[in-house]
Amino acid sequence: MGLTRIGLAGLAVMGQNLALNIAEKGFPISVYNRTTSKVDETVERAKVEGNLPVYGFHDPASFVHSIQKPRVIIILVKAGAPVDQTIATLSAHMEEGDCIIDGGNEWYENTERREKAVAELGLLYLGMGVSGGEDGARNGPSLMPGGSYEAYKNIEDILLKVAAQVPDSGPCVTYVGKGGSGNFVKMVHNGIEYGDMQLIAEAYDVLKSVGKLSNDELQEVFSEWNKGELLSFLIEITSDIFGIKDDKGEGYLVDKVLDKTGMKGTGKWTVQQAAELSVAAPTIAASLDSRFLSGLKEERVEAAKVFKSGGFGDILSSQPVDKAKLIEDVRQALYASKICSYAQGMNLIRAKSMEKGWDLKLGELARIWKGGCIIRAIFLDRIKKAYDRNPELPSLLVDPEFAKEILDRQSAWRRVICLAINAGISTPGMSASLAYFDTYRRERVPANLVQAQRDYFGAHTYERIDMPGSFHTEWFKIA
Ligand code: NAP
Repeated sequence: MGLTRIGLAGLAVMGQNLALNIAEKGFPISVYNRTTSKVDETVERAKVEGNLPVYGFHDPASFVHSIQKPRVIIILVKAGAPVDQTIATLSAHMEEGDCIIDGGNEWYENTERREKAVAELGLLYLGMGVSGGEDGARNGPSLMPGGSYEAYKNIEDILLKVAAQVPDSGPCVTYVGKGGSGNFVKMVHNGIEYGDMQLIAEAYDVLKSVGKLSNDELQEVFSEWNKGELLSFLIEITSDIFGIKDDKGEGYLVDKVLDKTGMKGTGKWTVQQAAELSVAAPTIAASLDSRFLSGLKEERVEAAKVFKSGGFGDILSSQPVDKAKLIEDVRQALYASKICSYAQGMNLIRAKSMEKGWDLKLGELARIWKGGCIIRAIFLDRIKKAYDRNPELPSLLVDPEFAKEILDRQSAWRRVICLAINAGISTPGMSASLAYFDTYRRERVPANLVQAQRDYFGAHTYERIDMPGSFHTEWFKIA
């Protein structure tokens, strides 16, 4: 065996599949994992899946030395301390000019810290967001590399082939920008993913609880929606889910799944960053809050007993529902809500880019999310076009096409939310999106009163609409 082109350390779900993908694209790859049985498992899988050029190593030194110089090693281990430990293990055998790429869901500041630390050893560093889960890693993910441009150039040929390929849009990879920008963008991508999933779940809840649609009907509705402007991976898998029967009992599996959503942290980071940067991201925050509330299953069961006689059920059963109209209204509400959620995510990325001087290209990010990743959707094409039309767009909401789409859908959107509110069905994501729109589109909001209150109790001063300057009034003396 000669030297391989690239190495990959960390052979759990993501690492193993990405290694096979790289090998399949014609790049011989060395692989390593702390627990060596996973190395053997990966090499065996490579044989079974077509004698792919995957070479396994049980010790870090021979793993590193098996790769051609300048060496490029992708790390796909648990984020946090395991990445530091893996870097320490591997860098001991690496040489000046070699490059480490962390493909995990890492906090962007850790990437910036590591980039500086390994630079002292003469090593280059990239933090690369990888989206698409197991299937994406194996067959074409969306890749968001940020950090050393020189390092990116060293493996651009590999990334261009390994990434998902979208007709007319090209490979789903681009050099995102400096520092931890790749990880930051991947983090916001995940926040947007939280928003999408919540909005879809609310559409399901309204259709099921108010419209009384069966799982078969829901499968048909989502499958139909997947032929139009909502066409996306998440709508497609949602339709599939409604069709799956329970293999351990009667009925459908979705009805047996406990209503408690897990999370690994990127959604929370997104909301924390939004607060840090003073960017409103209410739809994404609502989706995170919904996951927190879903976790209170036992409390909710008790609360349901307390409020059993609250009349919500009566309202629900007394609603005369035109199913076809409800389905169309919910479709439109979902689409309009989604525009607001993406506007928030994009504005968060832009705010960070300005703070850090990353010069991120929002339209290009929409392009690389079109394939491979969890939020892939035909809708992203429209976002790319909006930023192509105007790279300085302050918000997607005021792009002429999106603005028209929102206006066309706002009656349906408002109807769905009113219906849900009256029926006692919470739609936190859709409601947050509508409130975001209704606040953003209003020339004058009641912030004047809040500012007056601040000045009243804290002498925080206020500005006036009719003259420049900063004013303070001793309100309590006058009152
Ligand atoms: P994971 O479950 O996050 O991590 C398991 C891997 O980390 C194993 O290879 C494990 O080695 C290694 N590891 C853990 N602690 C270690 C340590 N102290 N030193 C060395 N290695 C250590 O794996 P994953 O799900 O494949 O995800 C990898 C990364 O990709 C994570 O950052 C994850 O957030 C991100 N990601 C995952 C997905 C997904 O769908 N799963 C999607 C996108 C991104 P051992 O076998 O020796 O324990």
